Order: sequence, then structure tokens, then C-alpha cells
Amino acid sequence: MSSFEADPEVGLSAPAAMELLEGAPVALGGPRGFAVTRTLPNRQRRMVGAWCFLDAYGPHDLAESEGMRVGPHPHTGLQTVTWLVAGEVFHRDSLGNAQEIRPGQLNLMTAGRGISHSEETPAAHTPVLQGVQLWVALPHAVRDMPPAFAHHADLPVVTEPGYTAKVIMGTFAGVTSPARCHTPLIGAELTLAPSAQATLPLKPDFEYAVLALDGAPVIDDVTLKPGPLLYLGSGRTSVAAATESPSRLLLLGGEPFEERLVMWWNFVARDHDEIVQMRADWSDHTPRFGEVHGYDGPPLPAPPMPISRLVPRGRVR
Ligand code: MN
Repeated sequence: MSSFEADPEVGLSAPAAMELLEGAPVALGGPRGFAVTRTLPNRQRRMVGAWCFLDAYGPHDLAESEGMRVGPHPHTGLQTVTWLVAGEVFHRDSLGNAQEIRPGQLNLMTAGRGISHSEETPAAHTPVLQGVQLWVALPHAVRDMPPAFAHHADLPVVTEPGYTAKVIMGTFAGVTSPARCHTPLIGAELTLAPSAQATLPLKPDFEYAVLALDGAPVIDDVTLKPGPLLYLGSGRTSVAAATESPSRLLLLGGEPFEERLVMWWNFVARDHDEIVQMRADWSDHTPRFGEVHGYDGPPLPAPPMPISRLVPRGRVR
């Protein structure tokens, strides 16, 4: 019996089927608050790589709404990634940072063991606000690291046939963002050229998802509108992207995150008792979360703990 030919396909599984993850409408700050569409965590799928939270909002006409007003609140065990499509948001945190962010810029806040911050539409603002708020779960080794904040105003851009990509986190098409991340992942904003056929390079060991920011990008044969998150699975070396009208999309991906998490309110932890402690530290004003100065309003109170114990969950339900 002769030996088998070395087959480069051996060991590569077929790409997983795509899943359209519908978003849930959420009002931040109560029923009359700021409306967002939450696609992560989703009922079927809680994470994409280490990306564990995705709220998209707008376009909001700020002539008809007061915009964003999120008072001081705590975070643990995650990084917040703030990305705007239109408008401005002003960030303040307990490390003393006060930073306005605009489209194309990244605010990256690493909560580590604890930080607090506020986010608001500044008094002087343009008429429309649109953006996404993402969280990245920190892996066990660094989840209790000291908190940090970075503003990246000049992220690298890749221009390829049919699209340009601004690399927010990680490496895409050979170009690496200066933003510090702690697991292998990618976040990029892609602008597709009308009537072009683009081939987006992917890593087979990453799982990916795509969110339309505007227009109607066609991914493989799925026409995507702003709203749902299209999960692409893993095992792919590329995916086709096309558009007839100008379109922008957010590409998220990463190595599947295998640690089980408890996500409750603004905390990412590993078990119920950690959440109880985090909640108590915030409610008791311990030094863990510091203090946000300059926000015109009270800090947000933690909601009551649920009656049953919180259960750690994996990335897939
Ligand atoms: Mn926050």
C-alpha cells in the first residue's frame, strides 16, 4: 500500500454555516433612554473571539434627543472599545482621563480589576450620533491587571482591491493596530467600493462576524443591513464582500475564547461570588473603582442581584 499524497486540505474542516444573529432593542437608562441594538451576547452565541458585547446605536438625530448621557459606572475584567460612525462622545474616567472621541478614532479602556467612567454627548456637537460600543473579555492571566485608558487618533489603513480597512484592534491584511489587546483578535472598519468584488483575508483559526454600519454589503450571498450580526464561523481563509451602493461594515473576529464567564451588569467575572464582591465594592464606594470627576449627574446604582446564583457560561449556548 503506497503512502497517501500529502494533501493540504487534510485537517482543514469545511467553513461553518453562517448564522444571522438578530439584535435585541435595549433602552440605556430606562424606557425613555438612549436606544441601542444589542447583538452580543446573543441567545445562541455569546461571543465572537474575545468580543463579548456589541451595542449599535443611531443614526440618532440630536435635535430630537439629548443624545448619550451615561453617568459614572464601573467595569471589571474587560476592555471597552468605543467606535463612532458619526458624531462625538465625551469620555471621563476614574484615572483622570477626559477625552472626546470622533469617527475613525478609538477609545480603548482596559478595566482590569476595576475602573469607572462616564460617557456623554458633548454640549457642542454635530447633528447626528451613530456608533458601536464593544467589550472584549480579558483572559484569566490579565483580568485583574491595573486599569488603563488609551485614545488612538491615527489608526492604520489598508487599501486593497475593492475596499479600504481601518484596523481598530489586532492585525488585518498584514497591518497591525497600535491598540493593546490580550488575546488574538481583529476589529476593523471596512469601506467597500461600489460595484467592486472584494476578497477579505481571514484566518482559519479565528471565528468571525460582520455588522453592517451603513449601506447593504453582500457577504458571500447574504445581503446585510444595519441591525443583525452575521456570524461567519471559523475555518475560512477568505470571504467575498461586494456592494452596489457605498457600504461600511465592522469585521470582528478572534480565536474562540474558551474560558467560561459570568457577565452581569457592567462586570465580567468567573463566578457568582466575584460578582457579589464587585457589586458591593461599587455600592460601598470602595477605592476599587475610583471616582469620575466632572460629570454633571450621579453615578449609576448597581441593580439588585438576581435571586438565583449566576452561572458561568461558555461562548455558545
Ligand atoms: Mn461603560
